[in-house]
Amino acid sequence: MSALTAFAKENGVKYFMISYTDLFGGQRAKLVPAEAVADMEEGGAGFAGFATWLDLTPAHPDMLAVPDGVAAIQLPWKPEVAWVPANCVMEGAPVDQAPRNVLRKLVAEAEGEGLRVKTGIEAEFFLLTPEGDQISDPFDTAAKPCYDQQAVMRRYDVIAEICDYMLALGWKPYQNDHEDANGQFEMNWDYDDVLVTADRHSFFKFMVKSVAEKHGLRATFMPKPIEGLTGNGCHAHISVWDLDGKVNAFADTSRELGLSEQGRHFLGGIMKHAEALAAITNPTVNSYKRINAPRTTSGATWAPNTVTWTGNNRTHMVRVPGPGRFELRLPDGAVNPYLLQAVIIAAGLSGIRSQADPGKRYDIDMYAEGHLVKDAPRLPLNLLDAIRAYDADEDLKTMMGKDFSASYAKMKMQEWNSFVSHFSRWEREHTLDI
Ligand code: ADP
Ligand code: MG
Ligand code: MG
Ligand code: MG
Ligand code: MG
Repeated sequence: MSALTAFAKENGVKYFMISYTDLFGGQRAKLVPAEAVADMEEGGAGFAGFATWLDLTPAHPDMLAVPDGVAAIQLPWKPEVAWVPANCVMEGAPVDQAPRNVLRKLVAEAEGEGLRVKTGIEAEFFLLTPEGDQISDPFDTAAKPCYDQQAVMRRYDVIAEICDYMLALGWKPYQNDHEDANGQFEMNWDYDDVLVTADRHSFFKFMVKSVAEKHGLRATFMPKPIEGLTGNGCHAHISVWDLDGKVNAFADTSRELGLSEQGRHFLGGIMKHAEALAAITNPTVNSYKRINAPRTTSGATWAPNTVTWTGNNRTHMVRVPGPGRFELRLPDGAVNPYLLQAVIIAAGLSGIRSQADPGKRYDIDMYAEGHLVKDAPRLPLNLLDAIRAYDADEDLKTMMGKDFSASYAKMKMQEWNSFVSHFSRWEREHTLDI
């Protein structure tokens, strides 16, 4: 019997949601009855690739999404359905630009060097009204709303339902809070291998949106959904282990901040490629309203503006909160879960290979004293700058895969052009009477 057929029998699953993620982070799926899943488990579910963001044409042959059975997750809010992330294949070969393939290739590359990358992510989100333009809780108006006890309890039904599901799924969630913007929340679960984290990150977004809808709300991971408030980050905590996953290769308490030499080189790669990798970690027009942003109403954006690193200080792009790991604070809620992990490995491995140095460590408050830092690059100011920086970084493009990089840069440039050709109210207001 096929593994998914057995999974269905054991768990009472009626439908499998065979799902893949496109270049823009969209999750695409077919609902396949359990009776029909055995064939698809082998051959994949068929899709017209051009109909999603994958840089394919209408003339391409069918793309097949082959489910990765071991990663199947039964929907806790609809147990008769199970979600299964899939790998995209065309004419017997992997679709090189498909994000889960990009990540799997980099995982294998790291493994080839005896390295196993583990990460935990913090996918912040807002709970809005169904229209998506206002915070759903009219009483959530505090000037400093972070950790607001009263406000988190007004959304207890949503937050606890999601956390209960994560507990049942064995993700080891350990805390939930109201974040720094009105209407904003964060839920944390344990770190794991990058592919597990990427699948969970995808499923988390699906779950949060689904549960919010059930409660008559709309959840968004948009980087800056409300002007003037703190945006949705998606920080990644990173460590690298031996192949057994037992020894943390980043931990060395005899060295600066408890970060091993290898950890320093990995960090060096992230620093070196930061302006280019922003095209992946901050992939939308709106992303650039979160980084480089003016002070928010809470007092701080909590987002970086410069390529700097530090110890336990949240005003920099990279924070080393304790021995054996570091936190990349650049990514935002729009990041593609698979490409986020992929670009971390790509930049980090490149750093290890070239023995990159992360450069000077700054232990200052970047929001107050950032202007004093003269020798650190600024982060891209908009999506166009980021795409251009990516396109100019041959090393990172090669690490991510040349085909992927060409497709990604092309599709993102099309998105940018669509944005700038949009006729805005701002133009009229600033140009009409000239
Ligand atoms: P903070 O808000 O202080 O940045 P959180 O507690 O919200 O931190 O999130 C920390 C994330 O880092 C969690 O997903 C946690 O599992 C993960 N993490 C902790 N230790 C490591 C480690 N050694 N390697 C990778 N991730 C880690
Ligand atoms: Mg059809
Ligand atoms: Mg956090
Ligand atoms: Mg946070
Ligand atoms: Mg954090």
